[in-house]
Amino acid sequence: MALVVQKYGGSSLASAELIRNVARRIIKKCREGYQVVVVASAMGDTTDDLIKLAYQVNSAPDKRELDLLLSTGEIVASTLLAMALQSLGQPAVSLSGSQAGIRTDKAFSRARITDINPARVLRELEKGKVVVVAGFQGVTEDMDITTLGRGGSDTTAVALAAALRAERCERYTDVDGIYTTDPRLLPEARKLSEISYEEMLEMVTYGFKAIHPRAVELGEVFNVPILVASSFNENPGTLIHKEVSMEIRNKVRGIAHDTDVAKITIVGVPDHPGIAAGIFMPLAEAGISVDTIVQNASIDNITDLTFTVARSQLKHALSVVEPIARSIGAKKVVSDDKLGKVSIIGTGMQNAPGYAARMFDTLSRENINIQLITTSEIRITCIIDEGRLKDAVRALHRAFELDKAT
Ligand code: ASP
Ligand code: MG
Repeated sequence: MALVVQKYGGSSLASAELIRNVARRIIKKCREGYQVVVVASAMGDTTDDLIKLAYQVNSAPDKRELDLLLSTGEIVASTLLAMALQSLGQPAVSLSGSQAGIRTDKAFSRARITDINPARVLRELEKGKVVVVAGFQGVTEDMDITTLGRGGSDTTAVALAAALRAERCERYTDVDGIYTTDPRLLPEARKLSEISYEEMLEMVTYGFKAIHPRAVELGEVFNVPILVASSFNENPGTLIHKEVSMEIRNKVRGIAHDTDVAKITIVGVPDHPGIAAGIFMPLAEAGISVDTIVQNASIDNITDLTFTVARSQLKHALSVVEPIARSIGAKKVVSDDKLGKVSIIGTGMQNAPGYAARMFDTLSRENINIQLITTSEIRITCIIDEGRLKDAVRALHRAFELDKAT
């Protein structure tokens, strides 16, 4: 019998009525002849509420305690879902992450799955039950409960699908697929019927909040097709998988945007070996992740070094960089936190020239100044004024004919 893993997000399980709705959908899948393993997220804003509570009793809650506390959100949702299934006549059992054999390392609040022993899940499936697994959690070899980081239920679902060799992983939330760009920003955004792992990974890394990047990465490594669809309607959704059909199609698949960008420029840096390492090593040690880095060609052995960080990390980054800049004799440090980035993404761009030129031309026609440019093989990103992001997305969406994408 074919096996699928279905994952339901917190918004799909936010009330008793919604839980019953999800139960009916699961039963429909069973009737189609599938064995179904379900991964449940915590109901609605439960995780946020639990975090708030923890900070009300302790301003620096112990990480072990916090993880055990947060894991209960998913347990509440999965037990209720199992009960709802049972009440509709469908045999079901809920399992915590630990009972489902999900083992992790000991990094509380951001644990990584080390392996999955699916024996118990398989035994329950053989008995004809739907198995509802609490997402977002696992257990260490010391039997401590860990969580996988915010949004971690996506990761649980894809990892389970891989361990169980499921036909695919179906991920349901309140959005019904992956769009060419954020439909809240641009109503003419189009839903894609399919997208490759690579493209999806670039999209989520560059601002799409559609699915957790770790889940996409896992899907790619273990070749698990992931369907992104809504639990509130029957719309077809988007399939994230390996090969997107060979038919002629738009080479740019999506436009991602992100406002969480701050830029730091160190002006007048002496250009000799070791300088970059002397700046970026302390930043790494301070836990600041640096995104775009640009160093100009030097004139008279003096150069400028620009890089971007998340806005929330700007102050911290400046406190690390300013003393270093002084000590190496740089002229000054300037920063700007009113920036955004816009990216065009598509595997088809790899061996097709002219995409960068078209992107820059489109932005210049809108009189949008490009501050920094970075690229990967399948992505071109421009850092621009935050205030012009929406115009940039709209113009690029048109220029690359995404309003006709499928
Ligand atoms: N409940 C957790 C969170 O809100 C995990 C998840 O929803 O995937 O981050
Ligand atoms: Mg949640």
